[in-house]
Amino acid sequence: MVTLEGTIQVPQDQLEATQAALVAHIALTRAETGCLSFEVWPSADNPLTFHVKEAFIDGEAFAHHQARAGASPWGQLTQGFARQYQTSGLDQPASPDETFMHQALQLADQAGEAGEVPVGAVLVRDEQVIGQGFNQPISKFDPTAHAEIVALRQAAQSQSNYRLPASTLYVTIEPCLMCVGALVHARVARVVFGALEPKAGAVLSHPCLESHPSNHRFALTHGVLGEICGQRMSRFFAAKR
Ligand SMILES: [Zn+2]
Repeated sequence: MVTLEGTIQVPQDQLEATQAALVAHIALTRAETGCLSFEVWPSADNPLTFHVKEAFIDGEAFAHHQARAGASPWGQLTQGFARQYQTSGLDQPASPDETFMHQALQLADQAGEAGEVPVGAVLVRDEQVIGQGFNQPISKFDPTAHAEIVALRQAAQSQSNYRLPASTLYVTIEPCLMCVGALVHARVARVVFGALEPKAGAVLSHPCLESHPSNHRFALTHGVLGEICGQRMSRFFAAKR
């Protein structure tokens, strides 16, 4: 993952033009396939200072963004502005966990665009996606249509098997009680989630399997692209308020 953080100074006489160009710049950058997150916001104590925080899945995606943005109206407008940026991770290729979590994030964005809580999931076996889903209980009139359940159903159908051993589920947010139950029933071997869900999370926040007599346990990894997955949730709920 490549991250960039810093500030950009906007000349007073360019402020209005910058604010106008920024709307399209944010939308176009977030729509880039390799973009994990992209935030630009004015400083609380100086409206001419803008904070920039961005993340891309790898150096190639970041270079693609820089080339596209540089040639865009935003790039042309702001090319002479003073910037203080720090980048990291340019030489680090995306890990397999990050690559699949990125796919889950893209599904989460589909849920968000449909007005559903932005959670996405992919189920992987032998490095192949065998099922995917995003949260859609409202549009499907289905209280069980969580991203994990949708992905498990699709995988079970595609594999013609109600059990999915040796598979890994990637989900952007800590699974709930229902989904933990389904993951156990499906014999999923490993669960990787992004951000904790302090209220409804049933893996670490409110562990439900510790006292349960079930004989199946999945391996667990959490925090993969965690900050970004959590940010999607906060952005969604902030926009609702
Ligand atoms: Zn759930």
